[in-house]
Amino acid sequence: MDPWGHFKTITKHKMLVMKYCFRIGLYKQGLLHDLSKYSPTEFIQGCKYYQGFRSPNNAEREDTGVSLAWLHHKGRNRHHYEHWVDYSLDTEKVIMGAKMPRRYVAEMIMDRISASRNYLGEEAYNDQQPLAYYMKSKEKLWFIHPETKRDLEALLRILADHGEKKLLHYIKYVYLKDEHCAAYNALQCVKRYFKKEQ
Ligand SMILES: [Zn+2]
Repeated sequence: MDPWGHFKTITKHKMLVMKYCFRIGLYKQGLLHDLSKYSPTEFIQGCKYYQGFRSPNNAEREDTGVSLAWLHHKGRNRHHYEHWVDYSLDTEKVIMGAKMPRRYVAEMIMDRISASRNYLGEEAYNDQQPLAYYMKSKEKLWFIHPETKRDLEALLRILADHGEKKLLHYIKYVYLKDEHCAAYNALQCVKRYFKKEQ
């Protein structure tokens, strides 16, 4: 039980995500990001299972078999692909991910960069880490909509190959703005963008 430790962890993360969201023009999302972590359902469990080196949700799962804090969290926060899992009309699958609006994919990228920075520490973090972390679970993420999955990986690749500054610029001015881009997939879009730059 460590309320102060948990409060510091979630607030530090929230501030970093906010800074990143502001840089790509997502002001409202930056302010509201993860706000439900301060609600009693999530905050009390977070304090109870606080460990400091991993998510308290995992400790809660080990203890009771389910993380009620996480179920509450993903139901209210659209930047998580788990939020978009819906019934599928495909009877084989039963459930399937719906396509995420781009502004939430962008917020998810900001969340992942911030989480990697906070968990690894500034010394160990580099631009390749968020992609490496994603690649570890990629094959098992069958329930994400294919287009969302493709965008997620494409954006993390821009970060790994071209750095943070270029990624943020690309998200703000191309991924979230370029109407023409919406008709294409993110990968084609990336190619066009970097061709223009050279
Ligand atoms: Zn979240």
